[in-house]
Amino acid sequence: MSLAGHVLPGVAAARLVDLGARISGCTACRLSETRTHAVPGDGPVTARIMAVGEAPGEKEDLTGRPFVGAAGRLLTRLLQGIGLDRHDIFISNVLKCRPPQNRDPLPDEVAACAHHLDAQVALIQPDAILLLGRHAVARLLPGSPPISRCHGERIIERTRVYVPLYHPAAALYNGGMLATLEADMQRVKGYLDEAAARARAAAPVAVPVPEVAARTQLDLFGGATPL
Ligand code: SF4
Repeated sequence: MSLAGHVLPGVAAARLVDLGARISGCTACRLSETRTHAVPGDGPVTARIMAVGEAPGEKEDLTGRPFVGAAGRLLTRLLQGIGLDRHDIFISNVLKCRPPQNRDPLPDEVAACAHHLDAQVALIQPDAILLLGRHAVARLLPGSPPISRCHGERIIERTRVYVPLYHPAAALYNGGMLATLEADMQRVKGYLDEAAARARAAAPVAVPVPEVAARTQLDLFGGATPL
């Protein structure tokens, strides 16, 4: 759906573009002084799935696009592995600007940037959000257990599904973590398959209208031949 559930996709798309422009010009925290480009995020406003990471890295800072380095290639491969095209997903981060030397986000930076991610979620209204790493989990599911205990779990808040996952950048250099992330992505596929099956089961069944009933209905509008 859309912002507040009532915005047409074209309007939401325009608002997403406006939001990206505001993020690109944002100076609300110190990271604006050291960034090359802000990285608002990438993907269609109609995406049913969002992936939220921690913050842009060096390549993302240089290009202004999210997840374009080695971690991005791994994310693309992991998504492909469960039948998802990354171009159908909206990919973003908790912070829109790169922290120097890729240090952890500071609490005041996360607070200053929070409304940008909140606005993206409100416009896109995704069914599911993949939380890539502990900072995304802390930001969107505060109070969750450590990611070592909640990764791969399906957490439902209102009607939205959240799945904490290890960050691909961390998995790049840790074979055990990569194996866990790959297994968790298969769990994501299971969650998506279940959701699709529920949606199919809930869809109204088209019942053929008998000819007599159809003619009687036409009579209600005064234009049909009397039976
Ligand atoms: S990190 Fe967020 S709040 Fe800070 S300057 Fe960039 S867009 Fe603005």
